Amino acid sequence: MKTEKIDVISGDREKGIARAGEILRRGGTVAIPTETVYGLAASALDDGAIEKVFLAKGRPQNNPLIVHISDIKMLEDVARDIPDAAYRLAETFWPGPLTMVLRRKDAVASRVSAGLDTVAVRMPASKAARDIIEASGVPLAAPSANISGSPSPTAAAHVIHDLDGKVDAIVCGEDCKVGVESTVVALFSDPPRILRPGAVTAEELSDILPGLVIDKAVLSEPESGEAVASPGMLYKHYAPKTETFLIEGESKNYIDFVNSKGDCAAVCFDGEAARITVKKLAYGAQNDGDALAKNLFSVLRAVDALGAKRVYVHAPDKRGIGLAVYNRLLRAAGFKVIKL
Ligand code: AMP
Ligand code: MG
Repeated sequence: MKTEKIDVISGDREKGIARAGEILRRGGTVAIPTETVYGLAASALDDGAIEKVFLAKGRPQNNPLIVHISDIKMLEDVARDIPDAAYRLAETFWPGPLTMVLRRKDAVASRVSAGLDTVAVRMPASKAARDIIEASGVPLAAPSANISGSPSPTAAAHVIHDLDGKVDAIVCGEDCKVGVESTVVALFSDPPRILRPGAVTAEELSDILPGLVIDKAVLSEPESGEAVASPGMLYKHYAPKTETFLIEGESKNYIDFVNSKGDCAAVCFDGEAARITVKKLAYGAQNDGDALAKNLFSVLRAVDALGAKRVYVHAPDKRGIGLAVYNRLLRAAGFKVIKL
């Protein structure tokens, strides 16, 4: 398949958005920029289009997709029995990196929800993403625009690397400002539950959602055969090909640890790089969770080129957006954590 590249930065933006909308409206697949990560979009109302998304990504069929809307009015087209809390959250956090899981309306293609009777919905902050949804005239289901299991794409080049030849078009826009996927919160049951942490933090959400809990799958490996609320949490995910370990501990211990190893690489904090003698990549300052989130996936994508046998990633603090970064790294490491 020849993949059309639609450049909305140096090309004609209006024409590009209209073209993306046209392909989507006709049941095609288009990778689009959002503020979290690039998404691979298709009409959420069209089972045939959704099937192409699963095929292009190699995504397990039981992992449901998030539906993206450009206007609060579209929420009632895809969800039913919407609780007041959803509207309060929308007022505060939409457009933005928050996904709400609600009861699903039948209009939503059943493949989107992987057979569940719920639907995950988000209104992205990215203006390009909202303009493309509007141009397509339908809600768009869009998982991350990567090959399933590999680090999520935060730049158009990452999408081209993974999906060129597998999708109808790629909209090449800005690099993603947030860099990790949206926070997913389940509102269809009591108490409300964070299924996946993101840039909208548990601390921020609990102001509107008293009693909010964090699902245990966020920080631990599901037992084999155990049912999980968010199927996406089941998988090893976001992973470089190099065997990855997550390392918890103070800077000095981390630096001594990696320096004592032979053929390895380090993914460290900015202030540590100068004292590390093995191959290394820094992913931001230890106290700058926003930078760690923004750089995480591009650094994980660059790891394999270092040619090391193993990579040891220094784990961030789990507060605020750090919880999202930690959650992704835990899965990138296949839950292998070393505490120093
Ligand atoms: P991605 O598309 O890569 O951002 O992954 C979407 C995430 O949202 C996965 O972790 C899914 O399991 C989760 N998700 C999507 N729809 C639902 C739903 N109806 N119920 C629970 N989790 C969902
Ligand atoms: Mg994904």
